[in-house]
Amino acid sequence: MRGRFPVSRPRRNRLSPAVRSLLAETALEPRHLVLPFFTVPGSGVKREIPSLPGLFHWSVDRLPELVEPALEAGVRAFLLFGLPSRKDERGSSADDPDQPVQRALGFLRGRYPQALLASDVCLCEYTSHGHCGCLAGQEVDNDATLERLASVALSHARAGAHVVAPSDMMDGRVGAIRYALDGAGFSSVGIWSYAAKFASAFYGPFRDAAGSAPEFGDRRGYQLPVSNPREALRDALMDEDEGADLLLVKPAGTSLDIAARLRGRTELPLGGYVVSGEYMMLRCAAGAGALDERRAVLEYHLAVRRAGCDVVVTYLAAEIARWLREEA
Ligand SMILES: [Zn+2]
Repeated sequence: MRGRFPVSRPRRNRLSPAVRSLLAETALEPRHLVLPFFTVPGSGVKREIPSLPGLFHWSVDRLPELVEPALEAGVRAFLLFGLPSRKDERGSSADDPDQPVQRALGFLRGRYPQALLASDVCLCEYTSHGHCGCLAGQEVDNDATLERLASVALSHARAGAHVVAPSDMMDGRVGAIRYALDGAGFSSVGIWSYAAKFASAFYGPFRDAAGSAPEFGDRRGYQLPVSNPREALRDALMDEDEGADLLLVKPAGTSLDIAARLRGRTELPLGGYVVSGEYMMLRCAAGAGALDERRAVLEYHLAVRRAGCDVVVTYLAAEIARWLREEA
């Protein structure tokens, strides 16, 4: 019956796997992954985090047990969070060079020159009230907080951070940090800004892990309402104007639309942060036998890349990198 269909029809699903893999539009590779972790005071500490089974609090001396296997699997970038030995109203331990983040930065920078070290800059892990800034009464004082954040960023740069990642969402923080870094000779230290950080229920397990749940009120005054994508885009583009080098969206899985829209509005690299609640969602569903863990995790993170994120910050970075290596 040749000639019966003179017009060739579009072909779907007939490409060989080899051709498909040649033409894959999006890839997830170990180099795209950033591994966040929590470092704590003391020595000899590797303690499982009750709200995040499978993840640990690490004292600085034991970090090689976390970092070396990750590097071996191909993860190059790390994002440091710290639990301080003391807290007060102003979060004064946040820029103390003897606290875990600063000590870890110095230790890792000297021992693993190939690692890219990014550090979280915020006050909520360091303040007695658990808010991300300094308070005036019951309210966060934006401008007083900027000065503190710039000082924290500077202390991280001095300790060895390649990149600082302000997560507080105060107005003007990127500009204030850029100004402080440049003024102190750290113009090569980058800023990854949490440009679109929604007030999300998915941060719950992290707050227990970081001991950073607010003592009163919540963070809706300075985090974005989930309902407002245009506000998120405006905020993110302001961070670009202030000098951010990369824009982060979080939680990644509930912000894919924001990443995709930002991709069309900026030439900066983008990052998606798969947060603690998303980690638990994947783990618990796999643990209950509802999902094939490896396939579900890889698909979830590939979707973040597909939405336009250059990097994916994820607690599963090392596992993912190992799986990708096995499949390569
Ligand atoms: Zn915070």
